[in-house]
Amino acid sequence: MSAVQSASAKGQPAATGAYDVVVVGAGFAGMYMLHRLRQQGLSARVYEQGGDVGGTWYWNRYPGARCDVESMQYSYSFDEELQQEWEWSERYAPQPEILKYAGHVADRYDLRRDIQFDTRVDRAAFDETANRWSVATSDGNTVTAKYVVLATGCLSNARMPDIKGLAGFKGKVYHTGHWPHERVDFTGQRVAVIGTGSSGIQAVPVIAEQASHLTVFQRTANFSIPARNAALTAEEREAFRSNYPEIRRIAREEMRNGIVQEVPDRGALDDGEDERRARFESRWSKGGLTFMGVYNNLAFDKAANDTAADFVRNKIAEIVEDPHTAKLLQPNDHPIGSKRICIDTDYFTTFNRPNVTLVDIKSDPIQGILPHAVRTSAKEIEVDALVLATGFDAMTGSVAKIDIRGRNGQTLNQKWAEGPRTYLGLMSAGFPNLFIITGPGSPSVLSNMIVSIEQHVDWITDCIAHMRDRDLVAIEASRDAEDKWVAHVNEVARTTLYPQANSWYMGANIPGKPQIFMPYIGGVGLYRQICNDVAAKGYEGFAMTAAKPLKRAVSS
Ligand code: NAP
Repeated sequence: MSAVQSASAKGQPAATGAYDVVVVGAGFAGMYMLHRLRQQGLSARVYEQGGDVGGTWYWNRYPGARCDVESMQYSYSFDEELQQEWEWSERYAPQPEILKYAGHVADRYDLRRDIQFDTRVDRAAFDETANRWSVATSDGNTVTAKYVVLATGCLSNARMPDIKGLAGFKGKVYHTGHWPHERVDFTGQRVAVIGTGSSGIQAVPVIAEQASHLTVFQRTANFSIPARNAALTAEEREAFRSNYPEIRRIAREEMRNGIVQEVPDRGALDDGEDERRARFESRWSKGGLTFMGVYNNLAFDKAANDTAADFVRNKIAEIVEDPHTAKLLQPNDHPIGSKRICIDTDYFTTFNRPNVTLVDIKSDPIQGILPHAVRTSAKEIEVDALVLATGFDAMTGSVAKIDIRGRNGQTLNQKWAEGPRTYLGLMSAGFPNLFIITGPGSPSVLSNMIVSIEQHVDWITDCIAHMRDRDLVAIEASRDAEDKWVAHVNEVARTTLYPQANSWYMGANIPGKPQIFMPYIGGVGLYRQICNDVAAKGYEGFAMTAAKPLKRAVSS
């Protein structure tokens, strides 16, 4: 093990030195990575840009923010005591509670002493002679490490829209993905929300209750299913707790998306119209992401998908009183589920409020922001505050901000200029000893993130232990294995309806970003099996380098 100074928690002097592993990010991935590395007796230093642990849940503090995976499943499974002791209060945990949970985990395993907060990793360069990474941070320090693990998160790089005049707006501007820590009170204000993805759809009903007037600027209508959030009863919690190990096993091995739910036994067209409507109705009443799991072919067959999309469009028409507004809110340019489906509380009903207006910026585009107004081609709408719910440079955005140099000084950004290329989403050829957690090419955002995080962290930990035990100094994905994996990821995506949407899964929300379907859609169970098989076959597709024997000193 390397000799290391790893004292500092927040406020203490930054360390300089040599580590076994540098981890970038202290969200759910970085925290668990640190815990596992310590269990192996390895030295690790975690750098985190935020002021505390929590990652995406540290930044996304907008009103109404909550998880769209049920809290009893959106939690760590690695420690039975932890999952038995934590008391989730609601079916879908609100952001403050998830952040509290992250803090509890950090306390429980004493993680903060190896995490340096308020510090960005700016550069990482691989030294091919020493087989070590040199890592430069925003506090001016440089440390070295045998491995770097990018636990940078998939949705942590908030994207400011390029709208003319935004910088000259005289009121407050907020981004949902970078929300202030202080409470924001919109009481009596005229507020504009730009963007109607998951974040906008969660924020709109809450802001509407405070604002004197709320104008929602919608470019693309989205499908949204009611969350039916409620307090968890002791019995509901107990149903999980009494059977947690088995529930977690099913999530990991048998569910495509890592969320335990009823598995459909038929396709949408196998039922007659009445039966189909009854099934959709039952899922709509239950609420949540499992709506898409009612039939087994909604993600693959357009005719089947249309039946679900029509059902939701009809629901919108029933809920929204003004027919013109209802029409605008009905999505019609992508298959349901091909963009991340939204989960809401009273989103569509909110448009029945007298203080809420919808502006369709597809037909009436935003021309620019004036000091006190949003100007579209048809009108000027005076506002006191702007809320940008405009999303993220997803999956690759946070990695791209770091100047990462692998073999021959090639940067990861150069290599990924035409789109991210990885083997198993875990490593990229030419960048030895650099691991990515839930990276492009792995199920990540198409799954319960914590299930995928735990799988990646465990695999990486086992790999590092394997290397240590055999005195291996470098591991690198082979080009051939990477090419085959990238081809496979694309091939599987093409069998689905996902590529038909201009989604952030495709990079389509960022002008100029290459459009490639980034996550692996084969399902977490199959993917886990593939990763395990690769390891069992001696890390097939990876090249491993042994330490050179030390030269003997020549004695005369
Ligand atoms: P998003 O899904 O990318 O939505 C961004 C919205 O902003 C879209 O409506 C987009 O319109 C609009 N937009 C972007 N640039 C614009 C511009 N220049 N002018 C006007 N409109 C613009 O982002 P998000 O809502 O933050 O959600 C991202 C992901 O985070 C979600 O899909 C989900 O995976 C995750 N998330 C999860 C939860 C949860 O767990 N409940 C909550 C929030 C977020 P177009 O569609 O036309 O591009």
